[in-house]
Amino acid sequence: MAIAHNLGFPRIGADRELKRLTESYWQGACDRRQLLQGGQELRRRHWQLQREAGLSLITAGDFAWYDQVLNHSFMLGAVPERFRAGAAENIDTYFRMARGRAPTGEDARACEMTKWFDTNYHYIVPEFEPGQGFRLSHLGLFAEVEAARDTCGEAGEVKAALIGPLTYLWLGKGPDSGFDRLSLLPALLPVYASILERLAATGIGTVQVDEPILILDLPEPWRRAFRTAYEALSGCGTKLLLATYFGGLEDNLALALDLPVHGLHLDRVRGRDPLPEVLAGLGSERTLSLGVVDGRNIWRCDLRAVLRELDDLHRQLGDRLWLAPSCSLMHVPVDLERETGMEPELKSWLAFAVQKVREVASLTRCLNGDGDAADMRRALEESAAALAARRDSGRTRRPEVRERAAAVHDGMAQRQSPFSVRSRLQRERLRLPPFPTTTIGSFPQTAEIRVARRRHRDGEIGEAEYQDRMRGEISRNMALQEELGLDVLVHGEPERNDMVEYFGEALAGFAFSAHGWVQSYGSRCVKPPIVYGDVYRPKPITVAWIRHAQGCTDKPVKGMLTGPATILRWSFARDDLECSEICRQIALALRDEVQDLERAGVGIIQIDEPAFREGLPLRRAQWQGYLDWAVQCFRLASSGVQDSTQIHTHMCYSEFNDIIESIARLDADVITIETARSDMELLEVFRDFDYPNEIGPGIYDIHSPRVPAREEFLALLQEAVRRIPPQRLWVNPDCGLKTRAWPETRAALANMVQAAVRLRGLSQDRKDGEAGSSPPDPAP
Ligand code: GLN
Ligand code: ZN
Repeated sequence: MAIAHNLGFPRIGADRELKRLTESYWQGACDRRQLLQGGQELRRRHWQLQREAGLSLITAGDFAWYDQVLNHSFMLGAVPERFRAGAAENIDTYFRMARGRAPTGEDARACEMTKWFDTNYHYIVPEFEPGQGFRLSHLGLFAEVEAARDTCGEAGEVKAALIGPLTYLWLGKGPDSGFDRLSLLPALLPVYASILERLAATGIGTVQVDEPILILDLPEPWRRAFRTAYEALSGCGTKLLLATYFGGLEDNLALALDLPVHGLHLDRVRGRDPLPEVLAGLGSERTLSLGVVDGRNIWRCDLRAVLRELDDLHRQLGDRLWLAPSCSLMHVPVDLERETGMEPELKSWLAFAVQKVREVASLTRCLNGDGDAADMRRALEESAAALAARRDSGRTRRPEVRERAAAVHDGMAQRQSPFSVRSRLQRERLRLPPFPTTTIGSFPQTAEIRVARRRHRDGEIGEAEYQDRMRGEISRNMALQEELGLDVLVHGEPERNDMVEYFGEALAGFAFSAHGWVQSYGSRCVKPPIVYGDVYRPKPITVAWIRHAQGCTDKPVKGMLTGPATILRWSFARDDLECSEICRQIALALRDEVQDLERAGVGIIQIDEPAFREGLPLRRAQWQGYLDWAVQCFRLASSGVQDSTQIHTHMCYSEFNDIIESIARLDADVITIETARSDMELLEVFRDFDYPNEIGPGIYDIHSPRVPAREEFLALLQEAVRRIPPQRLWVNPDCGLKTRAWPETRAALANMVQAAVRLRGLSQDRKDGEAGSSPPDPAP
């Protein structure tokens, strides 16, 4: 009998109960007892639900108040000194680590947060010190396991889930980049051993140990450490299921199969490790868990196709075959049934976490021939019919879109002239001063803006009134920017709730859920758009807004678009078309918008690609393939314009080292990047590479409400001038100002503009001084 299980269930709740609960606790609106009780109820509900859906094995340990990696740091006693300070450790310590408060109530630097593999979930990075110790410090996991057993009753079996010791160390960081995290393994293993022993003492049969780093390119010492670690943990009294996901094991497959564990979970959606090899390595005793239902996307599973693949395997493995989603379901929304307003046709193509658990259960029942044969047949037929309908639907397939994408040729992804020619024409047209000042796009989203948008959505104010209000906001933004003396103005994006959602709503082929929330970090959730069909642009999106903005000023206005790779990356993509193809369709839709903006007289167009780097595959060997199509898509979107139209792009992260060549290949006339917090060091990459086009290194850290003084901006600019040729340097903030309030934004931008003016003065003085002795610089 094959066994149905799950690696993890979304903990936020179908109504984002966890968000409400933690936020009200932070605000003091509920006390600790209520918080703990709320969490307990949520966990119990999720276990029950999975049990009723037909899982035979229930998983405890997938819950976290804020983040599962933080849970481990807390359990293992890896709490940085600044959060301890003699205070008793409790759940407040845990929240302080995530949110940056010292026990005294003062601000303490929060632990860093970063992306969990290639998902949009952010975990709290463990902080390590050389020679640091670990000890079992918090026993929440054991209480959860007990509660799971109570919930499931006698008949239910429970497994506990843990992040494995090597993945835990890999995800953390030491005091400097040279720190060897593996040096902590000997101190960590005994604590893991004691956790496993304790779990064994509760009578638990299986512990799921997540080691997703096994799907990465691992350095040799890390590969070796797997052997050491699992030899140390193998005799602790419970069976270990080594869980891997987000890809195939590839070169780590033999290593994984060689570890002394009782079973192995493989992601069969994203990984294609050869099963004969897996079976041979597994031997005759061990369990194989296959992740056959996609835990990263929202499409219904092709049950029949999966069964076809599993039938034979099941005959060989019997109860040693386990079925599960490919990874934890925390990366998909909770329950499709909540989508009462969704169009039935689209809805019939989808599965959220609850539905995915049922799919796993149905597959298992079919394999086992257990249950009502007619019921099973119905489940299979239903899924097959939905998939066929999706394939044949006129809404997923638009012949004219496919033809256009197929006809794309290199010339379309190429500006008419090289940058040197373009930049001359653009200077003549735009007549900007040296060190031109600009901003990244959005201005503070005030309460009035948000209220107006909500009332418009709820039908309380009509289209005309809404447009009127937004035009009013834009007019005010324009006047203010003139007053501040900025050189290239933006409309401020008041009409946009979110940079991807806004474009998704305007493009054909996208759909939106009403409750499809997915945890992004802590209590923050996002609701990604769903790309279900061929993408095209039924009508212009931004042109009227930008035209209105241009009407308010004589200065150049920069049109503002979100780039193809970013739109794709922050959506749930269809799985019946290659990502590169979907991206190309989005790029062509944006190309139409770029050309319409140009036709409307807009001389500068920015195409934001903040998620460009995020799209990099987890394995190096696949990087180039991704970079090639992502670059091509940006160029398709941006190259259909005259030489004198200036294309900007924007990216806000600080790792360019390994992709600088592709960044240059985008061939944007200007790139603005995030640099304020790295003291301009980031620019070294651009200097060393000899980045050919113009650059705006962010000098205003928009993550902080602090207003930097003019001198501070000037100092950063002088650092920048040391690395970037002055005639190619722009002056701007790190990113959009949407999350800031007006008072600090205004004050900071005023100082930023003054710094640019001062810098112009200084470099003019220098030129005047040098004029006698050497030939003058070419005029900028
Ligand atoms: N234009 C966008 C803004 O200013 C860019 C946001 C981003 O880079 N994340 O808000
Ligand atoms: Zn940004």
